[in-house]
Amino acid sequence: MTPISLISAILLLVAIGLILTLVSRYLSMKKQYKLPSAQENRENQGSADSLVDTQGFAQRLARMIQIPTVSWTNHSKRDLKLFSQFQEELITLYPRVHETLKREVHGNFGLIYHWKGKNSAKGKNPDQKPVLFLAHYDVVPAEEKGESWREPPFSGKIKEGILWGRGTLDIKSQLAFQMETAEILLAQGWQPDRDIYFAFGGDEEIAGTEGAQNMANIFKERGMSFEFVMDEGGVIAQDQLAFLKGQPAALVGLAEKGMVTFKITAPGESGHSSMPGKEGTAIGRLARGVVRLEKKSFPSRLDPVIQNMLERFVPHVSPGLGIIFANLWLFSPLIRFIFSKNKTTDSLIRTTQAVTVFNSGEQENILPGQATCLVNHRILPGDTIGQLLKRHKQVLKDKGLTLEDAGNWPANDPIKAGDPGGSGFQLIQKVLADTHPGTIAVPFLVNGSTDSKYYRDLTEQILRFTPLLLKPEDIATIHGVNEKVSLNNLENGLKFYLQLFSQL
Ligand SMILES: [Zn+2]
Repeated sequence: MTPISLISAILLLVAIGLILTLVSRYLSMKKQYKLPSAQENRENQGSADSLVDTQGFAQRLARMIQIPTVSWTNHSKRDLKLFSQFQEELITLYPRVHETLKREVHGNFGLIYHWKGKNSAKGKNPDQKPVLFLAHYDVVPAEEKGESWREPPFSGKIKEGILWGRGTLDIKSQLAFQMETAEILLAQGWQPDRDIYFAFGGDEEIAGTEGAQNMANIFKERGMSFEFVMDEGGVIAQDQLAFLKGQPAALVGLAEKGMVTFKITAPGESGHSSMPGKEGTAIGRLARGVVRLEKKSFPSRLDPVIQNMLERFVPHVSPGLGIIFANLWLFSPLIRFIFSKNKTTDSLIRTTQAVTVFNSGEQENILPGQATCLVNHRILPGDTIGQLLKRHKQVLKDKGLTLEDAGNWPANDPIKAGDPGGSGFQLIQKVLADTHPGTIAVPFLVNGSTDSKYYRDLTEQILRFTPLLLKPEDIATIHGVNEKVSLNNLENGLKFYLQLFSQL
């Protein structure tokens, strides 16, 4: 054999080996991530369906929407009476829950409910840890800027199968699902095996320090821990990912990015604008620093949660794409390249930085004494606030610029990801097979910040998920205009919760 033909033979063998590896990984994931069948719980589902009163449920949620529990960054603008009115309204809407469950009110915003389980009462099964369901009942303002609401944001109007208003998607619906489910099950004489807790905050939209953080500390003081904690963060997304061709995907947030805002300050010498120094003003100095930061985005990386999300799509995409998703060990650079072309997917593969506030100068003929800006970051798991600080100092290349945590919102490193093999994710997947057949449950990285971050030391599994099926145009209404939810969506979400509770 000549050396050339030997090399060709080796290359051919390598190519065959590679193709076999790619294909066998594809075939094995195609099998492994097939959707579970709905058969086994069909009987349960029938009985759950008959308990749902969709109209009544929508009307109860409408009552919640009609109380404008608006969170303002300027805290003094909040109307605290409305928050206590909301808490009182729950007592009227859900009498059984309030007869049976122990309710605690903490501060202006915190509401904890404790539903004692059968085993807890008798101390039977100490291994059966309680579960905790979270939601928040504050909403962002609904002032009309530009485009206006088709129905007033706090009307709670129900028209042609749609419930309108601020909070229908973010996230009074989640609170309503949980209360309605408990009310229905109590009417059936049902009691959970394990303890169930609810913790509702009223200031999530402005950091959650008075509601969720306070309640999490109370649970910690009591030495508690939970099998899982369920909060908002992911939904059932439809038409969000073109390659799924309309098939819905339940994005279960198992990981959450961290957050920090840095304040950068450039010093300057104030004085008469007719005699500026050669080096320019504080504004120029800070601007040069900002340009250097913006030129250098953070490196991209496929987090294990995103990898597993793509792998679970394997059975539902074309074979070509399936082979790529099943072999991220080889195709990660390609996926990252594609993700980086769109701002939504780009935010899933790197720590982001956004200069959101820039302050300096008072008058056109006065040199500013300093310039400051705020740079907000959403931190990819694997990075830390400490690393970000170090990196920025290098990139800014100006020792005169000072960098500090802006401190308006509590900063946090990324939250440790939950395991898709854990009991919580498995349960969601199983229930969805019954209530939302054809929906692919996948782990997801939430790039916003939720109340659940305060509970990170209280459980190994945080599940950020609301069973509402949303299209991109629905998602655009969250924090925007025309937020609304269809009654059909509410009905299916309630069935999901009924199934979930009955299997706890
Ligand atoms: Zn929310």
